[in-house]
Amino acid sequence: MEYPAYLQEIDKAADATGGKVVSLAGGYFGVQLVADGANVVLALDLDSDQGWVAWREDQWGEQCCDSAEEVLGDCPLGELRSRALEAVAAHAHA
Ligand SMILES: [Zn+2]
Repeated sequence: MEYPAYLQEIDKAADATGGKVVSLAGGYFGVQLVADGANVVLALDLDSDQGWVAWREDQWGEQCCDSAEEVLGDCPLGELRSRALEAVAAHAHA
């Protein structure tokens, strides 16, 4: 995916999910959703075929753990919010 198309996709995802675009490390962007007092971040993986990934982070932007990223894969924008919240809710800590 070209970078401009990537940015467009992030914008569309923010619109579709009611989230806001946040900047991540390395020129990447994500979409931040606030749900049940927790921040959930959606990101599109440009380097692999993983598609969308989602994780929960604290108020300082730290991921909850080292294996925080849950893979959503290819996901229609309309389902992105519910899929992300589901995946993050299913994310468990041993
Ligand atoms: Zn975790």
